[in-house]
Amino acid sequence: MTPTIRLLVFDFDGTALGGHEPYDRFPPDFVSFLDGLKARGIRWITNTTWGVEKQWGLMQRSGVKSRPAFLCGGTGQFLARVQRGRPVHEAGYEREIVRRHRRFRRRHAGRTRKILSGLLARDLVSHMSCDFDGELFVSYRASPGCADRVMELLKPLLNADAYYLWHPGRKTGNTLMPAHINKGDVIRELQARLGLGPEHTIVAGDASNDLAMFDSSIARCAVCPSNAEAVLRARVRTMGGIIATRAYSWGVIEGVEKCLAGERSCKMSRLSVSA
Ligand SMILES: [Mg+2]
Repeated sequence: MTPTIRLLVFDFDGTALGGHEPYDRFPPDFVSFLDGLKARGIRWITNTTWGVEKQWGLMQRSGVKSRPAFLCGGTGQFLARVQRGRPVHEAGYEREIVRRHRRFRRRHAGRTRKILSGLLARDLVSHMSCDFDGELFVSYRASPGCADRVMELLKPLLNADAYYLWHPGRKTGNTLMPAHINKGDVIRELQARLGLGPEHTIVAGDASNDLAMFDSSIARCAVCPSNAEAVLRARVRTMGGIIATRAYSWGVIEGVEKCLAGERSCKMSRLSVSA
């Protein structure tokens, strides 16, 4: 029997938010949609760059009555659950992230500093920033005509346990994100806690920073609104997901409903076959 969808994970900017005013609240249609999920046996989780408290403020202003199973913020760095009417951070999880930051700095700060200094010394970048005392994010803008050379020199940093590009394919400027800061690992952890797997999960997002959770090891159904970046639309196609005809949260609703309708028709056909 086809497993039932039990979990929806969604991004904020460009996905649940956008195309309406005021920007910092969910549109009424999306509020009704979220509040109707519980009756269908589906829980929801946020997964965004927004901090947990800012997310909570937005939910309050939006008038959402249902509660997320978890709130994920800071691209997987923060995690909270709603308890007694307010979000409470998962201290153990967030301590582990801080340990990973420290480990990352120990392993990569020296080499990162050396490569970035080389780019600056050769005038290959017009802008460069890196928080060497923080999470070691790197942002840069290549000097005119230098994009390929910059990418070549940054290559040693781009591997599975070091950095990934926030905007894959973008050459003139980019952000290098530490590999452990991503939207995928946190969802794997929450699925384990909830006893759910990819076969129970739908993910919805719009941009390259959602790619880590758009993975068939995380979600059986992938949904993006019509405004999604080309790189994410390509991933949705690869996953056999739904690229909605509508934008922003209306596209999320359309995509999720299509996924659920597909699931229903799949079950119906299995029933008729077995009958
Ligand atoms: Mg987004």
